Amino acid sequence: MKINIKLTAILVIILSLALFVFTGCNRASDVLSIHMIDVGQGESILIITPNNKTILVDAGETPQGKKVKSYLLKHRINKINLLIGTHPHTDHIGGLSEIVNNFEIEKIMMPQKPHTSATFEKLLTTIESKGLTISPPQPNDIIEFDKDIKLHFLGPIKDYGENLNLWSIVFRLDYKNKSFLFTGDMEREAEMDLMDTYNKNNLSANVLKVGHHGSNASTTQQFLDYVGPEVALISLGSNNPYNHPHKEVITRLEESDVLIYRTDLQQTVVIFSDGESIWSHQIPVNKKNIPK
Ligand SMILES: [Zn+2]
Repeated sequence: MKINIKLTAILVIILSLALFVFTGCNRASDVLSIHMIDVGQGESILIITPNNKTILVDAGETPQGKKVKSYLLKHRINKINLLIGTHPHTDHIGGLSEIVNNFEIEKIMMPQKPHTSATFEKLLTTIESKGLTISPPQPNDIIEFDKDIKLHFLGPIKDYGENLNLWSIVFRLDYKNKSFLFTGDMEREAEMDLMDTYNKNNLSANVLKVGHHGSNASTTQQFLDYVGPEVALISLGSNNPYNHPHKEVITRLEESDVLIYRTDLQQTVVIFSDGESIWSHQIPVNKKNIPK
């Protein structure tokens, strides 16, 4: 009888442990994370959905590709479901060849704008050598990317000739009640076109990835009012030759009570959302409280 009780007790412990390990491994988190990886003067943003699907937007200059690769590996990512090269400038697409060479890529999006730089041509060759093709997003395309995660492709909405910044892919990620707007290096003219094309509901966002590293050519007051963000993310290198971020942009954001995160001051910035609130373990550079 004693033995039976002991056996039962041991069995219960083993079963509970097994159940704990099983549920622990498979517990579906409901947290989306957005990682603005510090790539100096440039941009690279990793998005991980609650179901662990991944989007990588840009990968900084060519030498930064290795840093982005290490960051992904550190987060145990070996597959990228959607790789976006916002526009052909090297501070965005330079590191992408390293990524295409080292990860399984499901889909690649870049704007329909070729460029003649060696970096761009190398990227095209790398993509081709992996048997992949580039799909340019169509304006107003909506992709159900994952459960409760929708991607709304907004721009570029037209042919912008030789101004590569204006060709930037612009998209909004919606997760339940929260929205995140990604803008590449889009400048004033493209912002105006978006406001002419879409109503406020389509462009409003809780988090704005500020266009063009905080340059005054982007983030006009009108656009800021239209989007109405609570949080701004700015990717840039310290002491960059362009004096980014321009003080006019910082003033506009501060006067609109937007919490600012910057890679030049904070290195890699990570924000989280469960679709109802947004938070970070880091403190915004202009406030001493954590956004909720
Ligand atoms: Zn740039």
